[in-house]
Amino acid sequence: DAVVHRIAAGEVVQRPASALKEMLENSLDAGARHITVVLKEGGLKYMQIQDDGCGVRLEDMPILCHRHTTSKLRAYEDLDTISTLGFRGEALASISFVSHVTVTTMTASMQHGYRVRYSDGEMLPPGPKPVAAVPGTSIIVEDMFYNMLPRKRAFRPGPEEHNLCLDVLQKYAIYKAGSAGFTLKRQGEARSDLHTLPTSPRLDVIRSLLGPDLAASLLPLQLTGGSGDVSAAVPLDGPLGFKVDGFVSNLTHIGRRSTLILFINGRPVDQGQLKRALEAVYVAQNPKANKPWVFLDLQLPPRHVEVNVHPTKKEVGFLHQQEVIDAVCGAVEGVLRASMN
Ligand code: ADP
Ligand code: MG
Repeated sequence: DAVVHRIAAGEVVQRPASALKEMLENSLDAGARHITVVLKEGGLKYMQIQDDGCGVRLEDMPILCHRHTTSKLRAYEDLDTISTLGFRGEALASISFVSHVTVTTMTASMQHGYRVRYSDGEMLPPGPKPVAAVPGTSIIVEDMFYNMLPRKRAFRPGPEEHNLCLDVLQKYAIYKAGSAGFTLKRQGEARSDLHTLPTSPRLDVIRSLLGPDLAASLLPLQLTGGSGDVSAAVPLDGPLGFKVDGFVSNLTHIGRRSTLILFINGRPVDQGQLKRALEAVYVAQNPKANKPWVFLDLQLPPRHVEVNVHPTKKEVGFLHQQEVIDAVCGAVEGVLRASMN
């Protein structure tokens, strides 16, 4: 049975960066203002995610890593309107089937923290142990894929896994600018690979992460489309409505490859059709055009987006897709033209 669980878990947790993404989302769901990540060997040997969120209640600790245990989904109908990032109760369980997990947590009502270790979905004896702690949660994941040796051996030594984790953190740091800050370090090193403050404006975060040249080339983009209503009340057959907030590089920016960092309703996703359409806008403005850099925070009515996708499925579709893409591209074109005058 554990083997079956492990194979399923290996699908959800494909590499350190996928585990990190799930745990970052848990920290954000817990209301964290700052999240610190420490990695060793790209997260394969050691990964710690420390947040200052609400913590885990003592009574929830025994089942924290059980499959399909979630504190977030109360009823099936909630699926339509769910506002938290997690809802399937699959991430921590999966991580515990392919690694050793240690959780230290403290809620506002606890006098001290508790530490628990988990393996194969279960809390290990002796159970919650009182420890000194600060409010929030620290999750340590060690020896990822220790029990899946072919998978483990497929990872080559080198910076690749660390860099994929850095990518994930960069996306969230940009998206969450103004509300959450992030730090990434290698174990045993004082210097950080990424550090942002919760209050920094988005452009400052981009500048500190990606450099002054890119930041100086960016044009702000804001757009309200259709009825503009993106509330949970909009039904499946309701009107087109969306909001976009973002930054796009100008026509003088020199990029070697095009980048689209897209969040739809708070989730980082891939959308190949939108990416190709944006590239076409830049080429139409300037055939020698350099590759665009685009960040978009797109809000759609929750029912218009399929959120109940497998955690590893990053490419998402949504209702009125072509209309939304056309409107976004039109707005980008307008911003680019205006910047030329
Ligand atoms: P989901 O996010 O889908 O609910 P997870 O497996 O990701 O499922 O997490 C299981 C549960 O563990 C969450 O519902 C939440 O109650 C709790 N949890 C996980 N990480 C944290 C955290 N950093 N802070 C507070 N609670 C957490
Ligand atoms: Mg989750």
